Amino acid sequence: MQTFEETRSDVGQKQYQVLLFYRYTHIENPQAVKTAVVSLCEKYELTGRVIVAEEGINATLEGTVENTERFVRDFLADPRWAEVQIKRSASFGNSFPKLVAKVRREIVGTGFAREEADPTVRTAPRISPEELRAWYEREEDFLVVDMRNTYEYASGHFKNAIDPGISASRHLPLAMRKLEPLKNRKVLTVCTGGVRCEKMSAYLLSKGFNNVYQLDGGIHSYMEKYPGKDFQGTLYTFDQRQTMHFGGEREIIGTCHLCGTTTERYADCANDTCHLHFLACDTCRDEDDRAFCSEVCKQVL
Ligand SMILES: [Zn+2]
Ligand SMILES: [Zn+2]
Repeated sequence: MQTFEETRSDVGQKQYQVLLFYRYTHIENPQAVKTAVVSLCEKYELTGRVIVAEEGINATLEGTVENTERFVRDFLADPRWAEVQIKRSASFGNSFPKLVAKVRREIVGTGFAREEADPTVRTAPRISPEELRAWYEREEDFLVVDMRNTYEYASGHFKNAIDPGISASRHLPLAMRKLEPLKNRKVLTVCTGGVRCEKMSAYLLSKGFNNVYQLDGGIHSYMEKYPGKDFQGTLYTFDQRQTMHFGGEREIIGTCHLCGTTTERYADCANDTCHLHFLACDTCRDEDDRAFCSEVCKQVL
């Protein structure tokens, strides 16, 4: 994996970055919002993903630093988005093949009913990265519940975090048996940029958890502020970069699903009926860089 420092030394080359943002707010006409955002993206030649729903907007966009900053300026000029927190990370200009924009029922696919989780009505209180750092420093009694998928957790997570063991946000209800004993504990939910926790923490509240917090700006904001601290490993991304980090001293904690060697490289099982997303080291791949998650998947190809 290349690092941000390496790109910066490529004198004369364009600098790229990825923008990550979301906002839960009632949107009267998601289609119109989608069209407006797409035309702004096209104007500045941005690629990535945009999801608009009646409950809000969620986007990951890439372009040159110059163009993405122009996009941010124009986007935030709209009073509806003025409060949106934009997260930035370095990239290489090839994180997304194109721009894909969709109108959906939800901006993250949880499948929760409105009364179970509506962040515009009720969600857990947010704590800042600074507060979380202070919790760690004071050795406060709390647990981090990582609301991302298990394969994301595999390459990096907070110290003493709990992995509910889900492979998609809509599976959280299945993980409740594991989380149930934490009902009366002080719990902090975390995810990449915060969008999933708005709903996941609301869901925990609706299930009777009484001391739930969520990390404002997610792991992304924490790593930006405290690179290499408390969050161990690397941050999984849903784009071609696979993972990212923000410098600082860090440990690689990901291990190959097949042999246990340290690695941060992801593969999709090459068996077409499987496609499991997992960590696979260089030696466990074949000459075409493919990997199979198990002997069964390899043999029944
Ligand atoms: Zn291996
Ligand atoms: Zn497989």
